Amino acid sequence: MMQISNTITDLQAKLNEWKSQGQSIAFVPTMGGLHDGHLALVALAKQKADKVIVSVFVNPTQFGENEDFDQYPNTLEQDITLLEQHQVDGLFTPNTDQIYPQDLENDIVAGELGGILCGVSRPEHFDGVAQVVHRLFEIVSPDVAVFGQKDYQQLLLIMQMTTQYFPEIKVLSQPTIREEDGLAMSTRNQYLSENERAIAPYLYQALLQAKQDYLNNTTVEMLTNTAKNTLSVDFKVDYFEALDANTLKQITDNTSKIAILCAVFLGSTRLIDNIIFNKG
Ligand code: AMP
Repeated sequence: MMQISNTITDLQAKLNEWKSQGQSIAFVPTMGGLHDGHLALVALAKQKADKVIVSVFVNPTQFGENEDFDQYPNTLEQDITLLEQHQVDGLFTPNTDQIYPQDLENDIVAGELGGILCGVSRPEHFDGVAQVVHRLFEIVSPDVAVFGQKDYQQLLLIMQMTTQYFPEIKVLSQPTIREEDGLAMSTRNQYLSENERAIAPYLYQALLQAKQDYLNNTTVEMLTNTAKNTLSVDFKVDYFEALDANTLKQITDNTSKIAILCAVFLGSTRLIDNIIFNKG
């Protein structure tokens, strides 16, 4: 049976029972609206620890004022069924007061990595992400936590935050799970109209093309310009960049892994995706 906890006290009672039996804990934070991408994180978590805890919490502090906090899909009943089917041991569904009590010190910030790429058009976003993951780690205190490469900038930032504040927690990453036509799975794909849904896979095609161009020695400037031009037929391009995958800075002679990352608007829906590969 999956234990469902709405409160920290209830969750920690169960966690303490498991920990006192010497069981290791893997943690998968989510905002719900679960899909196969989330379930791949769960599958990886199951391989890495004795017990798996998933959280579903739509974190208000990572949404900007004009963003989709109020519309964010809530499919909790279905999420519970999926998590039970995947033999998750515990689900944590806290309310906002549990996560952000009035006396909580709020001094966690994302730092330099939070100011680039998605951080340019979403200036508060990564501070909110760093804050909520810090708080959830404080509550759950897992051995392992699993995040998706779909949100690559977020992954790097969480790795940094974890090294700084929770060196005992191991952060693992799961490659992006895609629909058959290449579109990265995302809760926000639910917002797309039928027409938009047909166009959305062009984003991944542009990433694949850019990777190919890079491997064929096209300059970063050329390949990003080509991609932006192609994408701007169907999307409003927010950014399209090829960077060092370890630092998210410019590619240098010391770069071993490349990250090509992009964000676009399709109607009012913001889509992000990336592709990570060895420099070769
Ligand atoms: P979210 O519920 O969107 O906050 O995502 C929760 C976790 O699932 C994050 O670590 C995401 O990076 C990860 N995730 C979301 N979509 C995918 C996907 N298509 N493939 C792999 N991981 C994903």
